[in-house]
Amino acid sequence: MVEQLKFRDPELARRVIEQIHSIAPKKDVVKICHVCGTHEWTITHYGVRNLLPSTVEVIAGPGCPVCVTPAAEVDEAIKLAEKGIVVTCFGDVIRVPGSEKSLLDARANGADIRVVYSLADAVKMALKNQSRNFVFFAIGFETTAPSTAIEVLRKPPNNLSFLVSHRLIPPAMELLVGLGDLQIDGFIAPGHVSTIIGLKPYEIFPKAYRMPTVIAGFEPLDVLFAIYMILRQIKAGKACLENEYVRAVTPEGNVKAQELMHKVFNIVDGEWRGLGRLPSSTLRLKEEYSRYDAREKHGVKFTYGRDLPPGCQCHLVMIGKIKPTECPLFMKACTPQKPVGACMVSVEGTCRIWAKVNAALQ
Ligand code: SF4
Repeated sequence: MVEQLKFRDPELARRVIEQIHSIAPKKDVVKICHVCGTHEWTITHYGVRNLLPSTVEVIAGPGCPVCVTPAAEVDEAIKLAEKGIVVTCFGDVIRVPGSEKSLLDARANGADIRVVYSLADAVKMALKNQSRNFVFFAIGFETTAPSTAIEVLRKPPNNLSFLVSHRLIPPAMELLVGLGDLQIDGFIAPGHVSTIIGLKPYEIFPKAYRMPTVIAGFEPLDVLFAIYMILRQIKAGKACLENEYVRAVTPEGNVKAQELMHKVFNIVDGEWRGLGRLPSSTLRLKEEYSRYDAREKHGVKFTYGRDLPPGCQCHLVMIGKIKPTECPLFMKACTPQKPVGACMVSVEGTCRIWAKVNAALQ
């Protein structure tokens, strides 16, 4: 608690904001992109954007794992459930839209889909009822992939397999750099993911793309410091990789977790909802673990799905091209209670975060 208060010290925040104003460009707009739902929550919840000079813009990239899961993979989970397999998943995942329906819709139609609080719960369920097949729908970035890897290495019960939909953050950042019309000037890199992968995967951004990159924690002061550090690099005409989140992120990251991931997964090209196919961005189980691969075991593999329902602008929100409020469906046809697009489903989705703050202000 004391640690938390230290990072919400109003006097320190005031001084950092003053520094940001003093070094921000007077005319040209600087665009800083983060790629993490928790960063978006901090920035929106604490009104960080309102504290910045008009020449400093902070946009949200594809940092919500539920939002970026393509409809085809949700369709695979639904198909498995419709085959009589028990599909288990984390809470937000059940509401994310597939091509025609969500897992929640499929459950309403009689499919056995269960929300679990941990992967261990899915293992327990499978052990308890060995006459049925179970699948765990494994969604998430580098932060959650190691826990899937551990469970695979523990040799789960024969009636449990994994629909692996893990994705990697650095390839998504490379996509954003390549979008010329986005014109990003700096990255705030995600603290959680960085605790696992360390600093090395981000070196490409300052080196190859001359992009100031700062790894940041999730308290308001972490984010303000990161913005200041990026502006300081820009003012000095430099591009380097800095770690603001030194209390949690080490240069090498969590080597044990990295080893587990390398042991169990191959890195392959993969679809991201509304963003297309990103090179080396997705994890799939290695051949030697194919008996735990739900796609192989139950013969379900979809390559195409409808990622965007009519009118949905999630693909533009996810790259920070538009704000949620610029989507014509925001808080009209699309609300947290009745989400149309994936970005309104998860607590880490940009539209859902903006909707919550919107509601609190009314
Ligand atoms: Fe997608 Fe709904 Fe956000 Fe529009 S408001 S971009 S439909 S999630």
